[in-house]
Amino acid sequence: MKKIGLITSGGDAPGMNACIRAVVRTASLNDMEVTGFYRGYEGLLENDNVGLTRYDVRNIIHRGGTFLKTARSSEFRTKDGRSKASSIIKSHGIEGLIVIGGDGSFMGANLISMEHGIPVIGCPGTIDNDLFGTDYTIGYQTAVDTAIGAVDNIRDTAASHNRLFFVEVMGRDAGLIALRTGIAAGAEGVLIPETPTDLNRLVNYLKTDFKKKRRSGIIIVAEGDSEGGAYEVAKKVQNEFPNWETKVTVLGHIQRGGKPNGFDRILASRMGHGAVLALREGRNREMIGISGGQLVHVPLDHAIKHNATISPYLLELVEALS
Ligand code: ATP
Repeated sequence: MKKIGLITSGGDAPGMNACIRAVVRTASLNDMEVTGFYRGYEGLLENDNVGLTRYDVRNIIHRGGTFLKTARSSEFRTKDGRSKASSIIKSHGIEGLIVIGGDGSFMGANLISMEHGIPVIGCPGTIDNDLFGTDYTIGYQTAVDTAIGAVDNIRDTAASHNRLFFVEVMGRDAGLIALRTGIAAGAEGVLIPETPTDLNRLVNYLKTDFKKKRRSGIIIVAEGDSEGGAYEVAKKVQNEFPNWETKVTVLGHIQRGGKPNGFDRILASRMGHGAVLALREGRNREMIGISGGQLVHVPLDHAIKHNATISPYLLELVEALS
């Protein structure tokens, strides 16, 4: 394989730049050219591309976001869109494509490979950590660190003012960021989409605890929780605590940005390196994952069709320690 294409797609995640760097440097070491397409499938469909040499990826390993930029493309969801993309890829003499993105990006990659015979390898780049077959996705650990830092700051205020804070973290379908943040920041409760939320139980717990010693508290709410986001939950709980001041903080996009931490830089470097080697070995329609510290190859079909599950142990832990 002499020439490969590279895109970052879906939501940006800290560590995507480190992954791009690893792909380009590994390809260069193996005498392969890399064509990067800007803005994911959207830029690919506009043939908005750049040739990437090992020198073009200097000084990016520590930067958040993705210098190739990212986007969501409705045209690529159509058969015609993917046909057009395939023609563009082939017109460059590109023999394989590396996609750094989440499950949606991998669905698209899987389809273009099946429909047009283009070998594809995925690197899981999403803060959600919701892909099956990998213990971690690029950006997740940094997002959790960012959320923990924010909750630590909020706790100072909560404790100083006797306030009950509801902090909303990202996670439309996945509660892993909420759960890990809750454990590491010592939250009093964590509400996530994967488990049914029992607000009465939360209220009773807080009442008992507040009667004893507690004078402040922090509840982490994943944005996709069944009771609604943090505002909704806070409103419902506030009715039960008329003498307490409840406050809501939505962390939002601050969780996506920022420098990737050491873990994500190393993970992204390993995955980017592994993706190029996988293409060279003739692998196709696979995601590079990490399991028990080792890089693994996971069929894209598996990665996207099975949901990553929440460990019951972590749920127990958060409850035991709150
Ligand atoms: P994140 O986890 O950060 O949201 P993602 O990769 O899941 O990242 P999506 O917006 O779901 O983000 O997908 C990115 C792009 O992949 C979409 O804009 C679309 O172009 C393509 N895509 C998503 N789903 C499909 C699909 N079912 N068929 C073809 N293409 C798809």
